[in-house]
Amino acid sequence: MHHLFAPSSSNRWLECHVSIALERALSLPFEGEGEDEEDDCDQETGGNPFAQEGTTAHALGEWCLQHGKNTSQHPNAITIKGVQQLITTEMRYNVQLYVDYIRSLIQPNTQAMYEKYNVLDWIDSDLGGTGDYIGITGDVLDVGDLKYGQFHAVTAINNTQLMTYALGMIGKSNPLGIKKVRLHIIQPRINPVPSVWETTVDELRLFEQRVKKAIKAARQYLDKGTLPLRQNAYVFGEHCGFCRVIADCKKVGTMYDKESEMEMMKLEKMNEKVLAKRLQRAKVFKRYIVKLEVDAKARLKDGETVPGFALEHCARRDWKSEGAVWSAAKKAGIKVSTLASPKELFEQIGHKRGHEVFGKLVTAKPFIKLIQV
Ligand code: SF4
Repeated sequence: MHHLFAPSSSNRWLECHVSIALERALSLPFEGEGEDEEDDCDQETGGNPFAQEGTTAHALGEWCLQHGKNTSQHPNAITIKGVQQLITTEMRYNVQLYVDYIRSLIQPNTQAMYEKYNVLDWIDSDLGGTGDYIGITGDVLDVGDLKYGQFHAVTAINNTQLMTYALGMIGKSNPLGIKKVRLHIIQPRINPVPSVWETTVDELRLFEQRVKKAIKAARQYLDKGTLPLRQNAYVFGEHCGFCRVIADCKKVGTMYDKESEMEMMKLEKMNEKVLAKRLQRAKVFKRYIVKLEVDAKARLKDGETVPGFALEHCARRDWKSEGAVWSAAKKAGIKVSTLASPKELFEQIGHKRGHEVFGKLVTAKPFIKLIQV
């Protein structure tokens, strides 16, 4: 079930209320839970392998917790929306860290819930989502979330996604008598030690006010059916890097153009504070450029023109099955800590040896490149 006000994108719509109306104007479907997983669309494939990987990891974690099993006991693939997704050795290892951690939170008197859906309809009927783990032990509420991304570290401190799930469990009148709330982010590919933050019901009530205010403002833009022309209605920040409409956002476009102009006019060495601020912005702009390229590719694929740009069909060497590579490496006594691409691995161990051990496991994967003509 997807909601207009998805907790997974709350850090964006709580800051930039107009972003939801902009999404609606561009006819984007509601955001699905889990789509916050490092959704840099793959520039080469145009797909979103990070979100796919995250969904598979979540399904594996849920299976273990629901069935009291470990990741090693799951078959090699899992079917998600009718498509078979492979479970790699690396995924088994990382998801097991999540599973073990969640199990460590569960006491004999814990009411444990996995993939718990709740809707905060006393705030808005379109505010709701699914928490990976919810546990109630006496008057303590634990909210756990698996993040499978490996590039963007997420903290539990003031995490608005988890705060929304917690608020959903406390409800309008706290019928469960919750006093203490603990939020846990488990991001095993970045840090085997989870990020934990403790908060109170009173603090969550303050957060509730912030949510109500943001939704009221967002609904005003939605009801009007027109987008504000004022640039200051669009709030720029780190959250823009995860905004699905970044390529169409005039605010980001204008800021990027200005920044590029300033870069050209720069005469003296910038101080460290300016440098740090620019680096923060550059992270957002990097995603802006990726989304522009994805947009241009989609238009060209649909037969539209983008003057000066074209698509080129290419192929790159990739593994047929990562699991088979791990097994082959183990059998041949080759130490592989993280799985490199065929090109990198062949360079590390020598091309002759690479072909002998892994040659049959390499395939040519087609992709489409955006080129300037
Ligand atoms: S890119 Fe940023 S400023 Fe633009 S709509 Fe999205 S969140 Fe708002």
